[in-house]
Amino acid sequence: MFAAASKAVFHGLAGLRPLQRLASRYGMAPDTGFARRFIAGESAAEAIDAARVLAARGFGVSLDYLGESVATLELADAATRDYVRIVEEVVASGIERNLSLKLTQLGLDVDRATATDNLRRILEASTPHGFFVRIDMENSPYTEATLAVLETVWSLGYRDVGTVIQSCLLRSPADVDRLNALGARVRLVKGAYREPASVAHQRMGEVNDAYVALAHRLLDRNPYPAFATHDPAMIDAVKAYARQRGLGQERYEFQMLYGIRRDLQAALVAEGFRVRVYVPFGKEWFPYFMRRLGERPANVGFVLKGILHDR
Ligand SMILES: Cc1cc2nc3c(=O)[nH]c(=O)nc-3n(C[C@H](O)[C@H](O)[C@H](O)COP(=O)(O)OP(=O)(O)OC[C@H]3O[C@@H](n4cnc5c(N)ncnc54)[C@H](O)[C@@H]3O)c2cc1C
Repeated sequence: MFAAASKAVFHGLAGLRPLQRLASRYGMAPDTGFARRFIAGESAAEAIDAARVLAARGFGVSLDYLGESVATLELADAATRDYVRIVEEVVASGIERNLSLKLTQLGLDVDRATATDNLRRILEASTPHGFFVRIDMENSPYTEATLAVLETVWSLGYRDVGTVIQSCLLRSPADVDRLNALGARVRLVKGAYREPASVAHQRMGEVNDAYVALAHRLLDRNPYPAFATHDPAMIDAVKAYARQRGLGQERYEFQMLYGIRRDLQAALVAEGFRVRVYVPFGKEWFPYFMRRLGERPANVGFVLKGILHDR
């Protein structure tokens, strides 16, 4: 209940332009920027530096060039070209080759065929270099389109691409079966968006129960599932079921967000588990940042401290 209200408030604030302008001015200031805890930087070079630090501590990474909901095909084309450039920068840097992206950043809101073609352009650039590309899952109006786009590029022969399933959605058991049958890798999350009761569980207990049930389905049949959560109860449930099924630690991975539960991230690596950190970067960091505040309003205190310190 509280979680839903908190998500609503922060998602509403995310749309306020003056707040966005103010945040942009201070949030990513060198050293003192309050958003730096959650965002690796505004440039690919900064994200690559962050990835190097993480790799030295035993983490995998997925670089996410932030941006979503572009309103024109020109902007979608620019984001696609940016991603192709990022592929080149990552190759030149020697860090792990793994990207996450959003289809609305590639024009899904404007024209699905163009967004699909933009994704194909990125895969064409990244696949020969051994990248894995994860299509993030956005809110429920995009679920079906996202799965359909993945199926289209899959039918074109691309295999180093996967997507995300949200345990909050009522449709997710069928979607997990669909992706298991395809053989595409799935990242399982609880879901970051506020969704109506017609399509999603509203109580955290139900979202958690669904997470565990879907984790079982994925451990049973998915080629390489990723469990993206900071919730120790979900992590323990995954570990316990994998142990029961006799699955080694190399058969799946945990994923967490940059700057969140770094203690838990390090503890899992110390236990020998694979942990991938999602490394967001870019100038369009505000909506992502606001979703993180909405998940845990205590983060606001952290941010305020940063702003006061800035003065
Ligand atoms: C790698 C990765 C990729 C993701 N990709 C997507 C995606 O494609 N689509 C999508 O809808 N969602 C995505 N998410 C977000 C996800 O859906 C949840 O909103 C988010 O992970 C919080 O849920 P939780 O599982 O950590 O559990 P919660 O029950 O929300 O949190 C469990 C505990 O984790 C800690 N925690 C959680 N969030 C925060 C935070 N913001 N700040 C500080 N502590 C926190 C707290 O200690 C909290 O008690 C992704 C998450 C991760 C880790």
